[in-house]
Parts: sequence; C-alpha cells; structure tokens
Amino acid sequence: MPDITSPFGGLTIDFGATGNAAPLAAVPVASASPAAESPHETNVLILGSGPAGLTAAIYAARANLAPIVLAGFQPGGQLTITSEVENYPGFPEGIQGPELMARFRQQAERFGTRVVDVEADRVDFSSRPFRAWAAGVEYRAQAVIVATGASALWMGLASEERLRGQGVSACATCDGFFFRNKAVAVVGGGDTALEEALYLTRFASKVHLLHRRAEFRASRIMQARAESHPGIEIHRGVTVDEVLGGESVTGVRLRDVATGTTRDLPVEGFFVAIGHRPNTAPFETWLAKDEKGYLVVEHETHSSIEGVFIAGDVHDHRYRQAVTAAGDGCRAAIDAERWLEEHEPAEAVVATAG
Ligand code: NAP
Repeated sequence: MPDITSPFGGLTIDFGATGNAAPLAAVPVASASPAAESPHETNVLILGSGPAGLTAAIYAARANLAPIVLAGFQPGGQLTITSEVENYPGFPEGIQGPELMARFRQQAERFGTRVVDVEADRVDFSSRPFRAWAAGVEYRAQAVIVATGASALWMGLASEERLRGQGVSACATCDGFFFRNKAVAVVGGGDTALEEALYLTRFASKVHLLHRRAEFRASRIMQARAESHPGIEIHRGVTVDEVLGGESVTGVRLRDVATGTTRDLPVEGFFVAIGHRPNTAPFETWLAKDEKGYLVVEHETHSSIEGVFIAGDVHDHRYRQAVTAAGDGCRAAIDAERWLEEHEPAEAVVATAG
C-alpha cells in the first residue's frame, strides 16, 4: 500500500508574496466586510487553499461573508508544486502553478478573506457554530466548506523512504534544479508523471520514464510530447523493486512485469508521480467516504451534515482539474450563502485558544 507524506521533497515553497509568482499589480480592497466577533469566528470557514478553497473564498468574501481560510499544510495546494499550467482558461500562454495560486489568493484577500497558514487537525461538526482547531487555536463558523484536496502518493518502498531528500522526490518543480546534467527516473503513467518527465528534461542529461503497463493513462497530447522528446526514454511494463544507493540515489532496480527478470538502471534522481490520496483525516468521524476514500457529496455540494459543504479534489476523483475544483468552490460558496440565508445564525461564542 503506498504511503503518503509531504510531497515537498524536503523543500518549503513560500506561497505568499515572496513565492515564485511574478509581482502582481496592486489591487484595491473593494469590499467592506462585516467585522467578525472575534478573529477566530466567521460566517464561513474554508478548509484548504487550492483552487476550490480560494474560489469559494472569493465568492464568499464578495457576498460579504468575511470568510476565514485555513490554508493547510500546502498553502495553494497541488498547483504550487507543478510547473507550467497550460489548460487553465484565461492564460493562453500558460502560467506557472505557484503564480496562478498566488493570484487566486490575492483575489480572495482583496475582498476581505483572511487566509491563515495553518492546518486544521480536528473538527467538531456536532452542532453550530461548527468548530475546527489548527495550531492550538479554535475557530468557529456558521458554515464550513471542506476543500482540503488530495496529496501525492509514495510507493511505500523502504529504500524510497530512506533516500527521500537524497535523490528521491515527488516534486520535479521543487527539486529538478538539483539534477542538472544527471540521469533521473520518473515512475508513473498519468499526466503528472509525463509532466514531471518533460519538466525534468530542462535539467537532466536523460529522463527515464518508468511505467508498469504498456498503455499510459495520461492524455494523448502529453503522451505524444513524451514519446517524441529526445531526452526521454520510456520503459513500459516495469515496476520498481528498490531504489539503490547508500548516502544518495545511484540507481533503481527494475522488474520486468512479463518475465520477472530484474535489472539495475543507473540514475541519480528518482521522482515518484503515481497519483494522489484525498486529505480527509480531520473528518473521519464526521463525513462519509466512498470506496476510494474520497468524501461523499449528498447533493450539489452539501455533505450529510447541514451547513457543511464539500468542494474540489477531496471528493472528486474523476476530473481533478484546477478549473473543475475552482468551479466546485464557486458552487460550494453559493450553496453556503443560500443555506446561511435560510438558517438563523447560531449564537456567537467567543473563541478560545488552547
Ligand atoms: P493518475 O492519473 O491516477 O495516474 C497515476 C499513475 O501512476 C498511473 O499510471 C498508475 O498506473 C501509476 N501508479 C499508481 N500506483 C503505482 C505504483 N504503486 N507503482 C507504479 N505505478 C503506479 O494520477 P496523476 O497522474 O497524478 O493525475 C491525476 C489527475 O490529475 C488526472 O485526472 C490527470 O489528468 C490530472 N492532471 C492533469 C494535468 C494537466 O492537465 N496539466 C497535470 C497533472 C495531472 P496504472 O496506469 O497502471 O494504474
């Protein structure tokens, strides 16, 4: 069973004003948001700051709901560890993932959203106001939008874990620079793997793309690019038995799926791009999950708990695109706004730290 941990490969991405994003033009604060009773109370608490969470924030803030966003362990979400985004509408030349998410955040903050770079580790959805705890602080909200997204999977090999940060990574954008003129391998057959492989050709002397089947899951355009790229060598029908190396990666041991034979491939970098798992840990006792572990939406964006809404990759394992997550965030904010209109606010309680 693959194991899951931070996809940063040991690096920290500064998602704020000092991140990879190009400086943005100054934008005026346009919204007079109603003052919250306390800095930890809000009409709408949004958990997660990827396209779903921040789009929900833009809509909720423009509806004068003064949302608070708890950004999570990876502020900006998965796009902050991707490179060029070519399919987000409105950017015909493409845009870097971190820059796109910095723009989302700036747009949300422009209308009065408060984004806090903490991760919610516990929630209590038993009654309103709903409660969530992050970094020891309790937040209270009349409605909650869960948009915690999904995280990169690891293969679960002991050697992979031992050499993480020593040549093993799940983020080409973060770590590709360290592999200039070196041979690297990327494992996986989806869009992420092919995107990572193509990105790594900027640095690496050779990129070996390792896939366990003959057919790729990735989109045809990405397959065509990878197959025609002179810097990429594709190995089909192989699995990775072990990552080789003492202090750092020196190779990978490949197993031919058809014959069972093994061979060692010398590489100095090993990038894992085998998919994602939804970030549902704080909601285990509150919200239902489907057979793949994704949260279940009852109707529109409503969860099984009145006043708690779900948006983005934490429930969507079909589309999983930035633009679909953003659309979902918009829907959740509109649903939350309408629901709040129909339900009297529960008695405000002064928030406590602890
Ligand atoms: P994915 O589509 O689920 O692909 C995961 C790949 O990893 C599959 O090829 C799978 O093999 C392989 N894999 C899984 N577990 C493995 C293991 N233990 N050992 C070896 N290989 C393993 O995940 P993804 O590539 O992260 O993409 C997720 C979604 O995001 C997709 O909808 C994708 O289109 C989207 N996406 C879009 C873009 C873009 O449009 N720019 C970029 C990135 C991602 P099998 O094929 O054999 O199952």
